Amino acid sequence: TRNYRIAVIPGDGIGIEVVDAGLHVLDYLANESNGDFTFETDFFPWGCEYYLENGKMMDEDGVEKLSDYDAIYFGAVGFPGVPDHVSLWGLRLAICQGLDQWANIRPVEFLPGVPRRLNHPDVDNLNWILVRENSEGEYSGVGGRNFSGREGSNEVAVQSALFTEKGCERIIRFAFDLARTRKRKKVTSVTKSNAQQYGMVLWDEVFARVSKEYPDVETDQWLVDAMAAQFVLHPEELEVVVASNLFADILSDLGSALAGSLGIAASANLNPVKRTPSMFESVHGSAPDIAGKGIANPIGTIGSAALMLDHLGLSEEASRINQAIEETTRQGILTRDLGGTHNTAEITDAIIKNLSKRKLEV
Ligand code: NAD
Ligand code: MN
Repeated sequence: TRNYRIAVIPGDGIGIEVVDAGLHVLDYLANESNGDFTFETDFFPWGCEYYLENGKMMDEDGVEKLSDYDAIYFGAVGFPGVPDHVSLWGLRLAICQGLDQWANIRPVEFLPGVPRRLNHPDVDNLNWILVRENSEGEYSGVGGRNFSGREGSNEVAVQSALFTEKGCERIIRFAFDLARTRKRKKVTSVTKSNAQQYGMVLWDEVFARVSKEYPDVETDQWLVDAMAAQFVLHPEELEVVVASNLFADILSDLGSALAGSLGIAASANLNPVKRTPSMFESVHGSAPDIAGKGIANPIGTIGSAALMLDHLGLSEEASRINQAIEETTRQGILTRDLGGTHNTAEITDAIIKNLSKRKLEV
């Protein structure tokens, strides 16, 4: 029996509901494997409620506690009552940066049966993958308040973006390596190096240098504003898109909305080199507007469980989850964000039913 130790952090809002849905899927697969593999899950009750009780988003040694798990399964963080920058920095960014998960991959998939937001002749065959620099850039936390010297009046605040050659190189190299595993072998780099003349120009120089080592990979370079339009107008040109922390964050919400909803996008925070645990989470946030109603779309978080299983070496189970998700949307079993009427539990049950059907066929 292979036992996988998974740290579970449901977090806040719908994070709690969609992680619960994902764990049902994992439970089903472990039971069905008849002892071939098991998941040992430990829950960490960190988040905004924890903050209001304890004055901190997670334990001081939280990152250390997580460091010997095989993987981390994460919901979402943030809730009214705690400032968003406190909750994000105190939990998600603390973990990503603390465990040096510098590569965030976010596939954009167009599922069958989902109403199309995008008018494109080949919409059913679109899919691309965002590679997000996940350790520095605009989310380095460099800056400060009150630069004018006088609090309150005409305050000046500085928010800097920090780019290192090492940070740029490893994420760009990661994108090229990923592109080599894909059909078209193409990397699109996104910057804003016309306006941001330091960090983004360093990024461009590193991109030019690394690309020489991958003559078999096609390259393309875009400014982020034009890339936002390209996502809508010519997404068939995209395969692997690599961008800084902020730009890829924004583009991944755009990508998931084009594919149907924020609720369907999965993501993995990886350290591809070190053996620190990786963290798997949907792209969306805690959605306080629909939290507690049981109507959140669990597909992004269940898809993130598939990315987790793939990472753990259970690639057959991972692709079965993805097939079961596709089967479910093809059947028109959809949550409200996709124009359907089903709730979180019904989608999850349908996905599990489709998983079991597939097992019988095999
Ligand atoms: P959000 O992603 O939580 O929600 C944006 C909109 O999309 C809302 O209308 C919401 O109802 C909808 N939506 C999101 N996920 C959905 C799902 N699974 N099913 C159905 N509808 C869904 O973004 P926001 O409103 O900007 O942020 C809310 C909170 O989440 C804030 O505190 C923010 O800081 C936090 N946040 C956390 C993360 C994270 O933990 N990784 C990411 C983004 C935002
Ligand atoms: Mn985001």
